[in-house]
Amino acid sequence: MHVRVAPRSRRIDVLQWPVIGSFLRWRHARTALQISLLAVSLLVVVDGLLASHVDPTDFATTITWVHYRGLLVVALLAAGNLFCAGCPFVLVRDAGRRIAPPKFAFPRWLRTKWVAIALFAAVLFCYELFDLWALPRATAWLVLAYFGAALAVDLVFTGATFCKYLCPIGQFNFVASLCSPLELRIKEADTCHTCRTVDCIKGTRSAETPGVVLQRGCELRLFLPSKVGNMDCTLCLDCVHACPHDNIALAGRLPGAELTDPRRRSGIGRLTKRWDIAALVVLFTFGSLMNAFGMIAPAQAVEAWISRTFGFASEAPALAAVFAAVLVAAPLVLLGSGAQITRQVARDRIHSATQIAVNYTYALVPFGFGVWLAHYGFHLLTGALTIVPVTQRAAINLFHQAALGPPMWRLTGMRPGAVFPIQVGFILLGTMGSLAAAYQITEREYPDRVIAALAPWIALIAWLAAVALWILTQPMEMRGTGLLG
Ligand code: SF4
Ligand code: SF4
Repeated sequence: MHVRVAPRSRRIDVLQWPVIGSFLRWRHARTALQISLLAVSLLVVVDGLLASHVDPTDFATTITWVHYRGLLVVALLAAGNLFCAGCPFVLVRDAGRRIAPPKFAFPRWLRTKWVAIALFAAVLFCYELFDLWALPRATAWLVLAYFGAALAVDLVFTGATFCKYLCPIGQFNFVASLCSPLELRIKEADTCHTCRTVDCIKGTRSAETPGVVLQRGCELRLFLPSKVGNMDCTLCLDCVHACPHDNIALAGRLPGAELTDPRRRSGIGRLTKRWDIAALVVLFTFGSLMNAFGMIAPAQAVEAWISRTFGFASEAPALAAVFAAVLVAAPLVLLGSGAQITRQVARDRIHSATQIAVNYTYALVPFGFGVWLAHYGFHLLTGALTIVPVTQRAAINLFHQAALGPPMWRLTGMRPGAVFPIQVGFILLGTMGSLAAAYQITEREYPDRVIAALAPWIALIAWLAAVALWILTQPMEMRGTGLLG
């Protein structure tokens, strides 16, 4: 068993920090976070259901599509998967399981990311097709659908089935958290070697009544001594609370370094053998471009041209064609070409082109994350203060009086021009991260032919960066920042 340990010399353990560490080690820290997010979710649902059909400046739409998404990526960049840690769906699910505990294991053949990938793509598609950012009621129903789905799935199947195999938000967070600066890992390998109870995975059981679980272990099936990186970790801290030897640290690390780590991971296996996770990374990366592209004028022009050319009467088929081009055809052509060239120039007779493409796909994560940060960060920074007037108006809608004062619509956020350099910075940072990851993968796979084997991937990543920067320079719709006008 290979054991991954926080190196002693430069060990950072957030769990030992004053205040933050004390809070995280508090047994009810997660519940406190979940209750906070549950309260916000309920406000979104109530406000959204009471709001008019279309209103991009409503509380439900603004909080969901501007603040929630923006803070989610900022948290992933600054710390890790905090929004899975505070997930309110899991709180409701846990309450439901007290009444009706699940009895079935999720079928083995479904224990992949393929269904989640389809759901993730469907959410991106529906967001563009229906302009969900402007629809309070639809947003409220989407939140309710999430609660219902998590509850329905996890009342039937044991463990964290919904989180690990189905939740689109969770998959987004899992991939982005590969670039986060913190991860949970063990402190001392010897302690785990001599550990007889392995509570971090099994949970802590009552000595008097062994059937009673006092503290659950990892529901995502990540065994800490052989856990590598953040994939599938919801940062729930159940393992920390369960370990009887206080042997788990929330350790600092080099963001993205795990992308090139070929070791077998507990609960996952080797990344290079997980084609479904590679496909998820493709969706994450090219989806970031698709989501940003959908906001600019040329996207409308392309859709209109497709509709005219093929005689489509509605937007859906034209949008589906754009999605297919960006999310399926472009990755197949780009990654396939890169892999074929590398295979030729490196004279690789062992690996198939598909396997080479899978190996290098993981290098795209930092770039994709940079684009998501640039996009969601734009909305967050230009609309940060809108939380004040939309909350004031929500109070008026709910209580029929200005309980929080008249809405101060002049409060918005930074000017788009001032945010532009920050967006460029995120894209360049992500691009450099992807180039570094591609270099390390090449050194690992082709140490004798690094430059030749790496060249197509430098070209591919540079081309993607140029596309992302081009999208940034196009006029964007002021989604969620309509208050500017
Ligand atoms: S319970 Fe703690 S000491 Fe035992 S294997 Fe898990 S992390 Fe290691
Ligand atoms: S390793 Fe498992 S138990 Fe520990 S924080 Fe991650 S998901 Fe939770």
